[in-house]
Amino acid sequence: MKCDICKSKDAVIYQPYSGRRLCKDCFIDDVRRRVREEAEKQGILKANKVLLAVSGGKDSLTLADTLASIVNPKKLIAFNIVEGISGYNRKEAAMKLKKYLDDLGIELISSSFKEEVGYSLDEMISSSKNRGLNIAACTFCGGFRRKLINNAGWKVKADLVATGHNLDDEAQTIIVNLLRGDIKRLVRLGDVPLKLSDRFVLRVKPLRKVYEWETTMYAYFKGFEFQDVECPYISQKPTLRARVRDLLYLIEEKNPGSLMRIVEEFDLISDNIKNNTSREELPRCKICGDPTSYGRDICKNCELLIKSGLMDQKYLFMS
Ligand SMILES: [Zn+2]
Ligand SMILES: [Zn+2]
Repeated sequence: MKCDICKSKDAVIYQPYSGRRLCKDCFIDDVRRRVREEAEKQGILKANKVLLAVSGGKDSLTLADTLASIVNPKKLIAFNIVEGISGYNRKEAAMKLKKYLDDLGIELISSSFKEEVGYSLDEMISSSKNRGLNIAACTFCGGFRRKLINNAGWKVKADLVATGHNLDDEAQTIIVNLLRGDIKRLVRLGDVPLKLSDRFVLRVKPLRKVYEWETTMYAYFKGFEFQDVECPYISQKPTLRARVRDLLYLIEEKNPGSLMRIVEEFDLISDNIKNNTSREELPRCKICGDPTSYGRDICKNCELLIKSGLMDQKYLFMS
Protein backbone atom coordinates (compact mmCIF):
# COMPACT_ATOMS: atom_id res chain seq x y z
CA MET A 1 0.00 0.00 0.00
CA LYS A 2 1.27 3.47 -0.93
CA CYS A 3 1.65 6.46 1.40
CA ASP A 4 -1.47 8.69 1.56
CA ILE A 5 0.67 11.85 1.38
CA CYS A 6 3.42 11.33 -1.23
CA LYS A 7 1.54 8.51 -3.07
CA SER A 8 4.88 7.05 -4.13
CA LYS A 9 6.62 5.34 -1.21
CA ASP A 10 5.32 2.31 0.68
CA ALA A 11 3.23 3.07 3.76
CA VAL A 12 4.71 1.71 6.99
CA ILE A 13 2.61 3.57 9.57
CA TYR A 14 -1.13 3.65 10.18
CA GLN A 15 -2.41 6.67 12.14
CA PRO A 16 -5.76 5.53 13.60
CA TYR A 17 -6.74 9.08 14.60
CA SER A 18 -6.29 10.51 11.10
CA GLY A 19 -7.14 7.36 9.16
CA ARG A 20 -3.98 7.83 7.06
CA ARG A 21 -1.26 5.40 6.06
CA LEU A 22 2.16 7.04 5.82
CA CYS A 23 5.65 6.20 4.63
CA LYS A 24 8.59 6.70 6.97
CA ASP A 25 9.62 10.09 5.53
CA CYS A 26 6.13 11.55 5.49
CA PHE A 27 5.56 10.31 9.05
CA ILE A 28 8.74 12.04 10.25
CA ASP A 29 7.71 15.24 8.44
CA ASP A 30 4.24 15.01 9.96
CA VAL A 31 5.64 14.74 13.52
CA ARG A 32 8.07 17.61 12.89
CA ARG A 33 5.27 19.80 11.52
CA ARG A 34 3.23 19.36 14.71
CA VAL A 35 6.27 20.04 16.89
CA ARG A 36 7.07 23.14 14.87
CA GLU A 37 3.52 24.46 15.28
CA GLU A 38 3.67 24.03 19.06
CA ALA A 39 7.24 25.38 19.22
CA GLU A 40 6.09 28.52 17.46
CA LYS A 41 3.14 29.09 19.83
CA GLN A 42 5.42 28.43 22.81
CA GLY A 43 8.03 30.96 21.73
CA ILE A 44 10.81 28.46 21.01
CA LEU A 45 11.49 29.83 17.52
CA LYS A 46 12.26 33.27 18.96
CA ALA A 47 14.18 32.10 22.04
CA ASN A 48 17.94 32.60 22.34
CA LYS A 49 18.53 29.58 24.50
CA VAL A 50 16.33 26.59 25.36
CA LEU A 51 17.15 24.00 27.99
CA LEU A 52 15.94 20.50 27.08
CA ALA A 53 15.17 18.24 30.02
CA VAL A 54 16.27 14.80 28.79
CA SER A 55 16.41 11.32 30.27
CA GLY A 56 17.60 9.11 27.43
CA GLY A 57 14.11 7.74 26.85
CA LYS A 58 12.30 7.88 23.50
CA ASP A 59 10.48 11.11 24.31
CA SER A 60 13.65 13.04 25.13
CA LEU A 61 15.43 11.76 22.02
CA THR A 62 12.45 12.69 19.84
CA LEU A 63 12.36 16.10 21.54
CA ALA A 64 16.05 16.74 20.80
CA ASP A 65 15.88 15.47 17.22
CA THR A 66 12.74 17.34 16.19
CA LEU A 67 13.87 20.62 17.76
CA ALA A 68 17.33 20.32 16.21
CA SER A 69 15.57 20.17 12.82
CA ILE A 70 13.58 23.33 13.61
CA VAL A 71 16.02 25.68 15.38
CA ASN A 72 19.80 26.04 15.41
CA PRO A 73 21.10 23.22 17.67
CA LYS A 74 23.58 25.72 19.16
CA LYS A 75 20.60 27.36 20.88
CA LEU A 76 19.71 24.10 22.62
CA ILE A 77 21.31 22.71 25.78
CA ALA A 78 20.30 19.28 27.01
CA PHE A 79 20.12 18.67 30.74
CA ASN A 80 20.17 15.19 32.24
CA ILE A 81 19.37 14.40 35.88
CA VAL A 82 20.75 11.43 37.77
CA GLU A 83 18.06 10.77 40.38
CA GLY A 84 20.07 8.09 42.09
CA ILE A 85 17.91 5.00 41.57
CA SER A 86 19.98 1.85 41.74
CA GLY A 87 19.71 -0.27 38.60
CA TYR A 88 18.00 2.52 36.66
CA ASN A 89 20.49 5.37 36.12
CA ARG A 90 22.96 3.42 34.04
CA LYS A 91 26.29 4.67 32.76
CA GLU A 92 25.94 3.07 29.30
CA ALA A 93 22.58 4.77 28.75
CA ALA A 94 24.14 8.15 29.60
CA MET A 95 27.02 7.52 27.16
CA LYS A 96 24.61 6.64 24.36
CA LEU A 97 22.55 9.74 25.05
CA LYS A 98 25.69 11.88 24.87
CA LYS A 99 26.62 10.40 21.50
CA TYR A 100 23.19 11.10 19.96
CA LEU A 101 23.23 14.66 21.22
CA ASP A 102 26.80 15.17 19.96
CA ASP A 103 25.67 14.02 16.52
CA LEU A 104 22.80 16.52 16.62
CA GLY A 105 25.18 19.29 17.70
CA ILE A 106 23.51 19.75 21.10
CA GLU A 107 25.59 20.31 24.24
CA LEU A 108 24.79 18.06 27.24
CA ILE A 109 25.10 19.06 30.88
CA SER A 110 24.03 17.01 33.87
CA SER A 111 23.44 17.05 37.58
CA SER A 112 22.18 14.75 40.31
CA PHE A 113 19.85 14.78 43.32
CA LYS A 114 22.85 13.86 45.46
CA GLU A 115 24.89 16.86 44.30
CA GLU A 116 22.14 19.45 44.54
CA VAL A 117 19.86 18.27 47.32
CA GLY A 118 22.37 16.21 49.31
CA TYR A 119 20.45 12.94 48.97
CA SER A 120 19.81 10.48 46.17
CA LEU A 121 16.20 9.47 45.47
CA ASP A 122 16.88 6.06 47.03
CA GLU A 123 18.12 7.79 50.19
CA MET A 124 15.08 10.09 50.36
CA ILE A 125 12.72 7.14 50.09
CA SER A 126 14.48 4.92 52.59
CA SER A 127 14.64 7.78 55.09
CA SER A 128 10.92 8.48 54.74
CA LYS A 129 10.15 4.75 55.05
CA ASN A 130 12.24 4.57 58.22
CA ARG A 131 9.99 7.22 59.68
CA GLY A 132 6.95 5.12 58.87
CA LEU A 133 5.80 7.38 56.04
CA ASN A 134 4.19 6.08 52.88
CA ILE A 135 5.16 8.69 50.30
CA ALA A 136 5.27 7.58 46.65
CA ALA A 137 8.71 7.75 45.02
CA CYS A 138 7.18 9.78 42.18
CA THR A 139 6.21 12.49 44.68
CA PHE A 140 9.85 13.00 45.66
CA CYS A 141 11.13 12.52 42.14
CA GLY A 142 8.70 14.83 40.34
CA GLY A 143 9.18 17.74 42.72
CA PHE A 144 12.96 17.61 42.89
CA ARG A 145 13.30 17.06 39.14
CA ARG A 146 11.29 20.24 38.58
CA LYS A 147 13.52 22.10 41.05
CA LEU A 148 16.77 20.94 39.43
CA ILE A 149 15.48 21.61 35.93
CA ASN A 150 14.49 25.14 36.91
CA ASN A 151 17.88 25.74 38.58
CA ALA A 152 19.69 24.52 35.48
CA GLY A 153 17.55 26.78 33.31
CA TRP A 154 18.59 29.75 35.44
CA LYS A 155 22.25 28.82 35.40
CA VAL A 156 22.51 28.65 31.62
CA LYS A 157 20.23 31.71 31.26
CA ALA A 158 17.67 29.81 29.21
CA ASP A 159 14.55 31.67 28.05
CA LEU A 160 12.59 28.42 28.14
CA VAL A 161 12.80 24.91 29.48
CA ALA A 162 11.39 22.24 27.14
CA THR A 163 10.32 18.85 28.46
CA GLY A 164 9.51 15.67 26.53
CA HIS A 165 5.89 15.33 27.67
CA ASN A 166 3.82 13.85 24.84
CA LEU A 167 0.11 14.00 23.95
CA ASP A 168 -0.76 11.06 26.21
CA ASP A 169 0.94 12.75 29.19
CA GLU A 170 -0.80 16.03 28.47
CA ALA A 171 -4.29 14.48 28.15
CA GLN A 172 -3.72 12.59 31.43
CA THR A 173 -2.58 15.77 33.19
CA ILE A 174 -5.67 17.65 32.03
CA ILE A 175 -8.04 14.93 33.29
CA VAL A 176 -6.14 14.44 36.58
CA ASN A 177 -6.29 18.15 37.37
CA LEU A 178 -9.99 18.23 36.45
CA LEU A 179 -10.66 15.31 38.80
CA ARG A 180 -8.74 17.08 41.56
CA GLY A 181 -10.57 20.32 40.89
CA ASP A 182 -7.19 22.08 40.61
CA ILE A 183 -8.23 25.00 38.41
CA LYS A 184 -5.11 27.08 39.13
CA ARG A 185 -2.90 24.28 37.87
CA LEU A 186 -5.19 23.68 34.92
CA VAL A 187 -4.80 27.29 33.85
CA ARG A 188 -1.04 26.82 33.63
CA LEU A 189 -1.47 24.09 31.02
CA GLY A 190 -2.58 24.99 27.52
CA ASP A 191 -0.57 25.80 24.46
CA VAL A 192 0.61 29.27 25.40
CA PRO A 193 2.81 29.16 28.53
CA LEU A 194 1.86 31.26 31.52
CA LYS A 195 4.45 32.68 33.88
CA LEU A 196 3.36 32.81 37.53
CA SER A 197 6.70 33.61 39.15
CA ASP A 198 9.86 35.44 38.16
CA ARG A 199 11.79 32.58 39.70
CA PHE A 200 10.43 30.07 37.21
CA VAL A 201 12.01 29.61 33.84
CA LEU A 202 9.00 29.17 31.57
CA ARG A 203 8.34 25.49 30.84
CA VAL A 204 7.05 24.32 27.48
CA LYS A 205 6.11 20.94 25.97
CA PRO A 206 6.83 20.86 22.23
CA LEU A 207 5.65 17.22 21.90
CA ARG A 208 2.19 17.82 23.38
CA LYS A 209 0.47 17.09 20.05
CA VAL A 210 2.44 13.91 19.36
CA TYR A 211 1.07 10.57 20.60
CA GLU A 212 3.36 8.45 22.73
CA TRP A 213 3.32 5.61 20.18
CA GLU A 214 4.46 8.18 17.61
CA THR A 215 7.47 9.26 19.69
CA THR A 216 8.37 5.56 19.96
CA MET A 217 8.15 5.09 16.17
CA TYR A 218 10.01 8.34 15.52
CA ALA A 219 12.89 7.31 17.80
CA TYR A 220 12.88 3.86 16.18
CA PHE A 221 12.97 5.25 12.60
CA LYS A 222 15.81 7.57 13.60
CA GLY A 223 17.80 4.59 14.82
CA PHE A 224 17.86 5.64 18.45
CA GLU A 225 18.40 2.82 20.87
CA PHE A 226 16.69 4.26 23.86
CA GLN A 227 16.72 3.27 27.48
CA ASP A 228 13.81 0.87 27.85
CA VAL A 229 14.32 0.01 31.51
CA GLU A 230 11.27 1.11 33.45
CA CYS A 231 11.83 3.01 36.65
CA PRO A 232 11.69 0.34 39.38
CA TYR A 233 9.47 2.56 41.52
CA ILE A 234 6.75 2.92 38.90
CA SER A 235 4.58 -0.08 39.76
CA GLN A 236 4.83 0.22 43.53
CA LYS A 237 1.83 2.45 44.01
CA PRO A 238 -0.98 2.84 41.50
CA THR A 239 -1.57 6.56 41.27
CA LEU A 240 -4.65 8.41 40.09
CA ARG A 241 -2.66 9.21 36.95
CA ALA A 242 -2.13 5.50 36.23
CA ARG A 243 -5.88 4.87 36.50
CA VAL A 244 -6.64 7.82 34.25
CA ARG A 245 -4.07 6.56 31.73
CA ASP A 246 -5.68 3.11 31.55
CA LEU A 247 -9.12 4.62 31.13
CA LEU A 248 -8.00 7.04 28.40
CA TYR A 249 -6.32 4.24 26.44
CA LEU A 250 -9.55 2.28 26.55
CA ILE A 251 -11.44 5.28 25.14
CA GLU A 252 -8.77 6.01 22.51
CA GLU A 253 -8.91 2.43 21.30
CA LYS A 254 -12.67 2.62 20.69
CA ASN A 255 -12.64 6.23 19.50
CA PRO A 256 -9.29 7.05 17.87
CA GLY A 257 -8.43 10.74 18.21
CA SER A 258 -10.03 11.18 21.64
CA LEU A 259 -6.75 12.14 23.32
CA MET A 260 -5.97 14.66 20.59
CA ARG A 261 -9.44 16.20 21.02
CA ILE A 262 -9.07 16.43 24.81
CA VAL A 263 -5.88 18.47 24.37
CA GLU A 264 -7.19 20.60 21.48
CA GLU A 265 -10.50 21.39 23.18
CA PHE A 266 -8.68 22.14 26.39
CA ASP A 267 -6.43 24.66 24.64
CA LEU A 268 -9.52 26.60 23.59
CA ILE A 269 -10.99 26.52 27.10
CA SER A 270 -7.67 27.44 28.70
CA ASP A 271 -7.27 30.52 26.49
CA ASN A 272 -10.66 31.64 27.74
CA ILE A 273 -9.84 31.04 31.41
CA LYS A 274 -6.50 32.84 31.05
CA ASN A 275 -8.15 35.95 29.76
CA ASN A 276 -10.54 36.00 32.71
CA THR A 277 -8.37 35.25 35.73
CA SER A 278 -5.92 37.41 37.62
CA ARG A 279 -2.32 36.29 37.51
CA GLU A 280 -1.23 36.62 41.05
CA GLU A 281 2.50 35.98 41.65
CA LEU A 282 3.13 32.64 43.41
CA PRO A 283 4.30 32.79 47.06
CA ARG A 284 7.92 31.86 47.89
CA CYS A 285 9.04 28.98 50.08
CA LYS A 286 10.38 30.35 53.38
CA ILE A 287 13.20 27.81 53.40
CA CYS A 288 14.57 27.49 49.90
CA GLY A 289 12.99 30.52 48.25
CA ASP A 290 11.49 28.59 45.34
CA PRO A 291 8.01 29.53 44.16
CA THR A 292 5.33 27.34 45.73
CA SER A 293 1.57 26.86 45.40
CA TYR A 294 -0.91 29.51 46.54
CA GLY A 295 -1.55 29.35 50.26
CA ARG A 296 1.71 27.54 51.16
CA ASP A 297 4.54 28.85 53.40
CA ILE A 298 7.07 26.19 52.54
CA CYS A 299 7.28 24.26 49.32
CA LYS A 300 6.34 20.62 48.88
CA ASN A 301 10.00 19.62 48.39
CA CYS A 302 11.18 21.14 51.68
CA GLU A 303 8.16 19.66 53.44
CA LEU A 304 9.07 16.21 52.12
CA LEU A 305 12.66 16.55 53.38
CA ILE A 306 11.50 17.67 56.84
CA LYS A 307 8.94 14.84 57.09
CA SER A 308 11.58 12.34 56.04
CA GLY A 309 14.01 13.56 58.66
CA LEU A 310 16.45 14.95 56.10
CA MET A 311 16.04 18.62 57.01
CA ASP A 312 15.98 20.29 60.42
CA GLN A 313 12.53 20.61 62.05
CA LYS A 314 13.36 24.11 63.26
CA TYR A 315 12.63 25.39 59.78
CA LEU A 316 9.00 24.46 60.29
CA PHE A 317 8.64 27.19 62.89
CA MET A 318 10.45 29.92 61.05
CA SER A 319 8.32 32.94 60.43
ZN1 LIG B 1 5.06 9.44 1.90
ZN1 LIG C 1 11.43 25.00 49.71
